[in-house]
Amino acid sequence: MTEVYAADHVVPVGAPPLRGGAVAVADGAIVAVGTRAEVLNAHPEARVEELGSAILLPALVNAHTHLEYATYGGFGDGMTFGPWIADHVARRPRLEPGDVEAAAALGALQNLRSGVGTIADASFAGASVRAASEAGLRGIVDFEAFGGKGQDPAPTVERTWERIQALRADASPLIRVGISPHAPYTVTPALYRALDELALAEGLSIITHVAESKGELEAIASGTGPVAVALLALAEVEASGLHPVDLMAELGLLRPDVVLVHMVQITPEHARLVAAGGAGVAHCPRSNALLGCGAAPLADLLAAGARVGIGTDSPASAVDFDLWAELRTAIYTARAREARPDALSAQQALELATIGGARALGYEDTIGTLAVGKRADLTAIDLTGSPFAEVEDPIASAVFAGSPERTLLTIIDGVVRYRRATDDGRLAAALAAARPGRARMIGHEN
Ligand SMILES: [Zn+2]
Repeated sequence: MTEVYAADHVVPVGAPPLRGGAVAVADGAIVAVGTRAEVLNAHPEARVEELGSAILLPALVNAHTHLEYATYGGFGDGMTFGPWIADHVARRPRLEPGDVEAAAALGALQNLRSGVGTIADASFAGASVRAASEAGLRGIVDFEAFGGKGQDPAPTVERTWERIQALRADASPLIRVGISPHAPYTVTPALYRALDELALAEGLSIITHVAESKGELEAIASGTGPVAVALLALAEVEASGLHPVDLMAELGLLRPDVVLVHMVQITPEHARLVAAGGAGVAHCPRSNALLGCGAAPLADLLAAGARVGIGTDSPASAVDFDLWAELRTAIYTARAREARPDALSAQQALELATIGGARALGYEDTIGTLAVGKRADLTAIDLTGSPFAEVEDPIASAVFAGSPERTLLTIIDGVVRYRRATDDGRLAAALAAARPGRARMIGHEN
């Protein structure tokens, strides 16, 4: 059965916007993109869904998430990075069985509601695998590993591999499970090496947080500073004396199946090194700004040719999973940092959140643009009531007015996974299920 989605504006990304456009979908793939008349003439048998005054786009790629932290919003506002991360570590034991699963399910639904079709998730508990799978999301979920100074890497690697194999049983065909060595300040170089051996042997992707804060640089250069002190309870930092990006280079972790998250405290030379290696970069400007970590040099990364995507991180640091808000922040941050209005256009920002993120995660042949032969991952936003209706420039309008509330639907692999008109009850149920865990973390037992 062929389905046609028709809208006043279609933004294919990689091809010019179409006024009065349509996209035909069959067997989960895109089979036609064009004007409404062209597509309907080619597929007269199709079932047609009219989206009216909406903008139809590729579903977004959220290049960095922690679905399990959907309920962590607003904890420790204004804290510096070291005490902030220690606060999260201290709250986690208050959660009860089921709390993490409920949070992850909520996070997955919130991503769908933000027009996201593909995620790259760093998962502490493994619950993201089932949550993403049940929501119908596409992407990678990498299971986190930690290990400090003086610890033998072997048992951690063994435990991690056992968990990954078990998690694969929960994964849908659209979700790939990999490894996330957390960061250079919580994972020793020896453990990075041992986990990487496993990744190479088993073909697993890697996600790791790199060069996020100045505290991280200090901690891994000398083993001192507030991040090192805050993390003593978790894993004593091992000082390598290197900048985190140089450490990743030495470990061979700048290759294409690695995603480097944050990359804030880097030089233009680091940007060139990462681009040459081919690693993906997840730019998370709201998280970086709110934690006072700084503004990543996005212009340097793009000029160097790095494969950059945009990620919301999680509500623990970045308020919510609204990737449209993240895109706007990427624009504000880039233009303010470079003091140029053309430092990042709305079109470039939308590319980062679609084909850019797809490239960063190795999905550029599968998704990221509306093109015949790609998998049918689409989203539609309704700008009725926004300052941008009647729409003049559909790309700028989508980027500056897109939001979860304005998302009409999200389609992944040809299947409608979120529909605003009918999913209010589902959202309310997910929020209600996740609330008791949040109350426990706050200390509101009843
Ligand atoms: Zn993260």
